[in-house]
This record gives sequence, C-alpha cells and structure tokens, in this order.
Amino acid sequence: MKTNFCIKSFLISLEDEKANIPSGIDKNCKKCEGRGEVDIMLPSPMNKKITVDCECTSDEKLEIINTKILNAQNTLKKYHKIFGSFEDDFNFEKYKSVYKESNHLIEIIEKYLIYNMPNSILLTGESGTGKTTILKMIWQILVLNNQSVFYFNSAKFENLNYQAFTLVDANKGIRNMIEYAKQVDYILMDDHLCKPHKNALDGYYEIFDNARAYKQKIIMASNINYNEIIDIYKSKDSLMASRLDVRLKGLNLIECEVMKSEVNL
Ligand SMILES: [Zn+2]
Repeated sequence: MKTNFCIKSFLISLEDEKANIPSGIDKNCKKCEGRGEVDIMLPSPMNKKITVDCECTSDEKLEIINTKILNAQNTLKKYHKIFGSFEDDFNFEKYKSVYKESNHLIEIIEKYLIYNMPNSILLTGESGTGKTTILKMIWQILVLNNQSVFYFNSAKFENLNYQAFTLVDANKGIRNMIEYAKQVDYILMDDHLCKPHKNALDGYYEIFDNARAYKQKIIMASNINYNEIIDIYKSKDSLMASRLDVRLKGLNLIECEVMKSEVNL
C-alpha cells in the first residue's frame, strides 16, 4: 500500500505525469516489442483476435492517466461529501512537519498500513489533538489504494439507537449502518466509546463480531484510553463492561496516543 499522499497531492502527481508523457511509441517496450500495437483475444462469445494500441503509446498512456485523474477527482468529491472541504490536503508528510510530536505515531500507522497488519487501531487523545485529521488522512490513503472504507458516524448511530423505541425508521437506519459496515475492508469510527451508550452497545457488539468473522479492520478514535473506556462502562454495569472488553480484545487493538502538540507552521 502506498501511504504518502492525499487525494490532492496524488492529483498533482498525475497532472505532472500527464504533462510529461513522451510522444509516440516506446521502442524499448517489451509488451509490443516497439511495434506500438498488440494483439488481444476477445473473450467468448466473440473469440476473435484484434489489434489494439499498446499501453506504451502516448495516446494510450494519456487515456490511462485521464481515467486515473477522473477517479481521483471522484474520490475528492466523495471526501468532501463526507468530511466537508476542510483538511483535504493533509498527507503524512505534511502532518509530520506540522505536528512534530506525532512523528512516531504516524510512522506506526504507516507501517500498519504498508504491512497490512491484521490488527485494529484505537487512537486516543484529548479532543483537539488531531485524531479526526488522522482518520481523514487514513480514509484518503485507503480509498486511493482501492480499499473499501466506511466512515462510521458513531454519534449518528447512537442517536438512532435512542430513537429506536419510538421511530421505525431508526431501526432501519441502524440495520443499514450495520449491514454496510459488514461489506468493507476498513471501518473508521470517530469519537467512539467516549460515553457509555448502553442502547448502541448491541449494535457495536454486532459490528465488532462481524469484523472478527470477516477479518475487517476497525480504526477508531476516542477521547479516552482503553482502560478509561472499560471503566466508564463498568460504572454503569460490570457485565456490560466485561462483554465490551472481550470484544475489543478480540479486535487485537493497537492503542496509540495522539499527543497534544504545538503547531509548527
Ligand atoms: Zn508497447
């Protein structure tokens, strides 16, 4: 997985590449042996051999890059729809130069993504430390690397659970979120488990159990650390807390603290 880009920096690199496409045919191309054309077999029911331009020709290269640009632009639109236009240009490199205290943390996350580690992540830290910014960067990296991602709005899910007794649509909304979460590679959960949401807990159990069963990864951010999460649930109901503990342990969480830092702009 490539990690050091955001959608905007990726778009810039594609535009650069586009501007520097050499014209004509690549004489050293191994695929077409410098002919600029290759024969391909159409699949059945056509079963016919046709000759097409090789991807080393400038026309083909241009088409390939235009498709990539279009895809990246669509990804940027998706980002804006989920997160608004704020912080859409943060990548790990930029983040490390602005929040120097977080260099070690970002390196851990980079390794986690590059080596496709089977764990889930719990990002902790006071509000305002940049957890959401990190989730936004991770979202961009995952989507640009063709991973399916669900940015799970915990507050929305918890609200739906409070309304579930009175609103039929709320139940539908809860099911939709759980079902959608089941289908992705990564679930990003922001502001998660900061308060004991007893009603939402069954839904969370289901999401965590699915994540284990389908080998999905969850990256969650919370204002409080693991022990504090368990403690606030314990203060409500010790059985509930131990059930949550078992489930969270099953996710093999790597706990990472986001340090409060001075901004070095
Ligand atoms: Zn070629």
